[in-house]
Amino acid sequence: MIYFVGAGSGAPDLITLRGDRLLRQADCVVYAGSLVNPALLEACRPDCALYDSARMTLEEIVEVMVQAEKKGGLCVRLHTGDPCLYGAIREQMDALDAAGIAYEVVPGVSSFCGAAAAAKAEYTVPGVSQTVILTRVAGRTPVPAGQELSALAAHQASMVLFLSAGLLEKAQQELLAGGYPAETPAALVYKATWPEEKVVRCTVSTLAASARENGIEKTALVLVGRFLGEEGERSLLYHPAFTTGFRKGQEP
Ligand code: SAH
Repeated sequence: MIYFVGAGSGAPDLITLRGDRLLRQADCVVYAGSLVNPALLEACRPDCALYDSARMTLEEIVEVMVQAEKKGGLCVRLHTGDPCLYGAIREQMDALDAAGIAYEVVPGVSSFCGAAAAAKAEYTVPGVSQTVILTRVAGRTPVPAGQELSALAAHQASMVLFLSAGLLEKAQQELLAGGYPAETPAALVYKATWPEEKVVRCTVSTLAASARENGIEKTALVLVGRFLGEEGERSLLYHPAFTTGFRKGQEP
């Protein structure tokens, strides 16, 4: 059996109990060495075979899984954050389907959640934004037509950019061209939930300069939107006058 496990955003105690249990049992672990905290691997058995996927191709990764399965072993494919975002798990699952090998996915704390925690922010502030756009600026991997940052910026929603810390001049230009006012609050969150975590607050127009000043080139998320500012309304959910299925609202 193969388990795709989300390692969480960095701090080793952010992996789920289920993920930790599987790591402790595993005969083989293929981990994303570029971003997974190596401290997590200390949970593995001394005889567990460890493979760093940063140095492997898809074919090599699948071969390790196939061999593990042949031996009747338990193989963990350890992805950073949650495997469902920029984890390239679909192609691995397709290959396992083709080989007739069963697998399960164990979710994890994505870095966009870790980054919100670091910035002490809520993406969905009433009256400001009820939508979160998770995206990236086009780099060596292009984005499909219609999903350019400038097109998405038109929504003025809360936005999180993955894989974009090295392309901030371009990101900034597109965000401004798409309609975010220059003074829209933004933040760079470097290594969220790691000991070296850093939150740099800026505006859309100072994203690239702020990254340069702080030496941030990778392993960072870009947060953009008025949710990072002061404005916002209180929620209806906890308003004294609001009736829910659990609580009767009081007349003003
Ligand atoms: N599946 C992962 C994302 C993998 S893509 C997740 O759910 O978080 C890799 C990108 O994620 C990095 O380029 C960076 O933009 C972001 N990232 C991953 N871990 C991060 C962290 N701890 N802090 C900030 N950004 C992080």
